[in-house]
Amino acid sequence: MIDSETVLNQKTELLCKGLYLDNELITRYKEQGIQIDFGRKGGAGPLGGRYFILEDGNTMVNVALWNDKIKTNLVLKEKKGDFFEVHDNYNNNLFGNLKLVENPKFYELKTTDGIDMNKIALVHGVDCLASTIYQKCIYWACGEPCKFCGIELSLQYDSTIEEKNAKQMTEVISAAKKEGRCSHMTLTSGTDESVDKGANRYIELLKGVKNDHPNLPLHVQIEALEDMSYINKLKEAGADTIGIHIEVLDNRLRKEITPGKFSISYELYEKNWKHAIDIYGDNQVSSYVLTGFGESKADFINDVEKVISLGVIPYITPVRSIPGKKDLPITNYQDLLEIYKNSGKLMREYGVNPLKNKAGCVRCGGCSAIKEAYIEAK
Ligand code: SF4
Repeated sequence: MIDSETVLNQKTELLCKGLYLDNELITRYKEQGIQIDFGRKGGAGPLGGRYFILEDGNTMVNVALWNDKIKTNLVLKEKKGDFFEVHDNYNNNLFGNLKLVENPKFYELKTTDGIDMNKIALVHGVDCLASTIYQKCIYWACGEPCKFCGIELSLQYDSTIEEKNAKQMTEVISAAKKEGRCSHMTLTSGTDESVDKGANRYIELLKGVKNDHPNLPLHVQIEALEDMSYINKLKEAGADTIGIHIEVLDNRLRKEITPGKFSISYELYEKNWKHAIDIYGDNQVSSYVLTGFGESKADFINDVEKVISLGVIPYITPVRSIPGKKDLPITNYQDLLEIYKNSGKLMREYGVNPLKNKAGCVRCGGCSAIKEAYIEAK
């Protein structure tokens, strides 16, 4: 068994580096009936990877899988029992053991209107069903997409459909629940040009899903809104938690990394976060915060403290390259470890507890070690 410090260290290193997966091994695993691949190539959130459980038996991590040895010194090796061995090529020793989270069987099924269920929603981790309800974004349309985003790629790869409706979603939820693979949901979306920025599409879908699955905790993600009444309407329609994502805290970097979203001021994010906490309650409001763009550690930690001091959970995640598309910088994992340790202490100081988050990315935990950092900061 590994202790909480080792869990935090291993997860942070895996999030930053990912694993090398030899194509030959894929074939050999397939012969052993083990379906392993390089994961999804397009869509929202960190791409290209699979979900693994660490040796403590419950910490889940979304690990990038590369077929390029340059990318990482961590190599996925043989499966022994339930766990794959991971070899560290730098130190020439065993890094650790990981258990692969299998894909669910409902991926073979179709909705009643004939759509492959895995084009509607996917299981992230063990039991978080995740879907991009609208696969297009105004910033892609006007040529100012966020540098790390792959939302419209899965449309290009025909691995999803442009817009999902409540009926399709509730059918997939039922199928996932049958397999015990849906305890909560992450709903995300590209941004609309309209004042509601896509909130109305969410509201219609949330009402339909809550009607059929009233006890399923639901998480929505949206950018800061001028008209904050939509934050209330999303709650009334059934959202339990909300992510109002700024992604990049440094204003100078925001202009470069999120050129379209840069038109939204940091002050408007603060107003939205405060209002959302009033509506959704403590520990139910979060923001993705990406590392790897050359921000100074000290400035980053100061900026994160501002976010935490408002009661917002900073979902700190190292940016990840988009397979076959964009090579993005790799975050130094020792730097990220220090950031996590400071953030864990700050969350304790300000009484922000990510372990109490009811639904979505924070509860899932796959893409960030912020919960492990909180645990370790005790
Ligand atoms: S945290 Fe979980 S639900 Fe969110 S994008 Fe990562 S794997 Fe998906």
